[in-house]
Order: sequence, then structure tokens, then C-alpha cells
Amino acid sequence: MTSQKTEIKCPQCGLLTFYSSENKYRPFCSERCRLIDLGQWADGTYRVPLKQTDGYQDADVEGADDANSGANSED
Ligand SMILES: [Zn+2]
Repeated sequence: MTSQKTEIKCPQCGLLTFYSSENKYRPFCSERCRLIDLGQWADGTYRVPLKQTDGYQDADVEGADDANSGANSED
């Protein structure tokens, strides 16, 4: 008996793959495509997180206004 393989197209990338027990990522061609698709279903859109290397922080220096007026003259 020969193991029957159904040729399918990966829904994610369109690559030709097999729908069989050998392909544990079926109906996808790879784990990557499966994860991408799952991410899309969970989030709605697959987004690549932007890596921001912004180490610049604007320190807001607060100028304490010392309004201490009043000449205290003791006699
Ligand atoms: Zn694929």
C-alpha cells in the first residue's frame, strides 16, 4: 500500500506542499507559514515589530521658581 499524498498549495505563501501526516504543518508548507497565519487570525494583521533604537531621552528640567520676597528687617 502506498501512502497517498494530496498535493496542496500553502495558503500562506502559495508554495506547493503535501497534505499528509508527514507534513505536521499542514495545510501549510512550513512552521513559519503556519505561525504567520495563526498570528493573522489572532491579531487581524500580521505586523513586524519595529525595532526602535531610540536612546535619546529629553529630560525636562523644571525651573523651580523661588518667589521668596519680603525683606525681614528686625529691629
Ligand atoms: Zn508556505
